[in-house]
Amino acid sequence: MLVDTHIHLDASEFDADRDALLAAARAAGVARFVVPGVEVANFDRVAALAATHQDVLHGYGIHPLYVDAAGPDDLGILEDRLSNGDAIAVGEIGLDFFADGRDRDRQEQFYVAQLKLARRFGLPVILHVRRAVDAILKQLRRIELPGGIAHSFNGSRQQADALIGMGFRLGFGGAMTFDGSRRIRELAATLPLDALVLETDAPDIPPAWGQGRRNEPSNLPRYAAILAELRGMDVAELIDATGRNAAAVFGGKL
Ligand SMILES: [Zn+2]
Repeated sequence: MLVDTHIHLDASEFDADRDALLAAARAAGVARFVVPGVEVANFDRVAALAATHQDVLHGYGIHPLYVDAAGPDDLGILEDRLSNGDAIAVGEIGLDFFADGRDRDRQEQFYVAQLKLARRFGLPVILHVRRAVDAILKQLRRIELPGGIAHSFNGSRQQADALIGMGFRLGFGGAMTFDGSRRIRELAATLPLDALVLETDAPDIPPAWGQGRRNEPSNLPRYAAILAELRGMDVAELIDATGRNAAAVFGGKL
């Protein structure tokens, strides 16, 4: 099963033709779309998409780059939403130490609070990790979770192994389509197959062939073909394996 484990389907970039995009992706073989929540203001949108389309599943979370704008009640609102039982994950949450001028302590507070919510509700997490893998790992060692996905993984082999050792899968997508992405392509080629899942992160991270345009979920089959080629394996087997990995993360809710 071909699963897009990370797509911001609610993004305004898709407002004009969202249903056509979904239809094109389905026709190309994409069977499931996992849409993270990123701030309280998008929770209704992601929930409505999942309620409308059987193959769309969603999470609720406060993204590290939305933490500065989050209000004092937002963690409470998230907690209420999670108790509804409609989300398949807590996410997108995490740490982003790449951008300057962000409040790292506040990011850590939201990250830890949301890890605790995931533990309480028995949900996996969808992690955004940018220049912050060690800080992410530190909290995962303290707060035990039923696993999750480190989306658009861009760390070292050692960091990948540490995440995998804690039951996490790593998301690969647009970055792997560039010949120059040597480290990411090396990881994609050599990490254990059962640790890998596919994602587009559309409309972000357009592939090598789509620079300057929005990324779309119908690119996913080409990502599967590239990953299969990097690993020297059959693409149907690759799709099977990554689909099973995604299903395992989300505990049969896909
Ligand atoms: Zn994302």
